[in-house]
Amino acid sequence: MKRSASPSLGPVVVIGGGNAGVSIAARLRRRGVADVTIIEPRREHVYAPLQSHIAGGVADRREVVRPQADVTPRGVVWVPERVVSVRPGEKSVELSSGRRIAYGQLIIAAGIEQRWDAIPGLQEASTGAAVVSNYTLDLADAASRALRELDSGTVVFTQAAEPASCAGVAQKPLYLACDRWRRRGVLDRIRVVFVTPESAPFSIGEVASELHRSLDAYGVETIYDAEVVDVRSHASELDVVVGGQKTTIGYDVLHAAPPQAAAAWIAESGLQGNDGFVDVDRETLRHRRWEDIWALGDVASVTPVRSGGAIRKQAKVIADALTRPHRRRSYDGYSETPFTVTARTAVFAEFDRLGRLQPSIPRWRTLYRERRFTYLMDRWVLPWVYWNLILRGRA
Ligand SMILES: Cc1cc2nc3c(=O)[nH]c(=O)nc-3n(C[C@H](O)[C@H](O)[C@H](O)COP(=O)(O)OP(=O)(O)OC[C@H]3O[C@@H](n4cnc5c(N)ncnc54)[C@H](O)[C@@H]3O)c2cc1C
Repeated sequence: MKRSASPSLGPVVVIGGGNAGVSIAARLRRRGVADVTIIEPRREHVYAPLQSHIAGGVADRREVVRPQADVTPRGVVWVPERVVSVRPGEKSVELSSGRRIAYGQLIIAAGIEQRWDAIPGLQEASTGAAVVSNYTLDLADAASRALRELDSGTVVFTQAAEPASCAGVAQKPLYLACDRWRRRGVLDRIRVVFVTPESAPFSIGEVASELHRSLDAYGVETIYDAEVVDVRSHASELDVVVGGQKTTIGYDVLHAAPPQAAAAWIAESGLQGNDGFVDVDRETLRHRRWEDIWALGDVASVTPVRSGGAIRKQAKVIADALTRPHRRRSYDGYSETPFTVTARTAVFAEFDRLGRLQPSIPRWRTLYRERRFTYLMDRWVLPWVYWNLILRGRA
């Protein structure tokens, strides 16, 4: 490793050791930055995208979890605690233990919070067997069992409103489950309802038409522009409001995506923009008021769709700004949403912040269409790239 350490940076402190935090820390180490610390309370690191495949019954939880110590880049200090506040004037962060850590540069990569309590009844319902989700590892496991064993009944899948972590992936278990039910010959005995706050399965027309084809082929009932307002687990019902009208839907299984929001400590530390997330410039990812603070990943509102794919680009922008400032790289808002529409094929949407398709294989304009190739990328290639290249600062 080349050691051209940048002493002028001072200690680099990264809040959060998820996808974004480990990626940027590894990249900075590879560039010779000597003093990098990650603050991360979790002992286990999870590759969230495969939770959808677990829920859909085509992956196992052992594939997605590794000890945090194993993914922490060599030479990076890991502090297994939670940050409770940032004091930008003093250039320090305060941990839950009361200890303070000083920084020269602070990179916030603390993700987005899941708010299961934001819909009345949802949190309580999620402790029972009938409410499952790809948004947590345990509920994804529960989804796999609940969906696989079903022969008849009603299954409701919900998608979260923005802000959310890659909201469209709530559809992945839906298609995977339908594909399995169809192969088992029970699909016509199962009523499948998809409830989404959006007015289409995806915001880009070409991608939406691909998804419509699958929704129609599986006979999925779609409820657009809808808000879930109440879940009553004792009656196995949820209330959905569309255009001011409330509808009640009974379910045998509810596959729920939780509401999501910025953590309170961001605003309490005075670092928030209008939406409560860290207020960074969407191209440089540098804080608008504190020039030694940066943010990437789900904790920043710099692309309309938060995703791991977006982080691959964002980490390069911050690493260059700190170690090769003459390059002036900026983030174009690239993001992605893969949809596994069968257990063999995917619709893989890649786009910029204006919603223009931006395939990562240049000039392959129709890469987004349903393909075997993109399923293999999503299911097998990207997880390998994640553990072996992205978390090591190589991709
Ligand atoms: C079910 C699901 C499926 C997805 N599928 C895809 C997909 O197919 N393709 C894709 O590109 N993207 C996908 N995404 C999105 C992608 O996983 C996220 O965008 C990405 O993981 C965000 O990384 P992050 O580091 O910003 O947040 P996270 O990975 O959530 O990491 C944040 C970390 O910060 C830590 N933290 C939080 N608060 C504090 C604190 N106060 N102090 C210290 N540490 C803290 C947390 O413990 C956590 O480990 C999916 C997301 C989900 C939930």
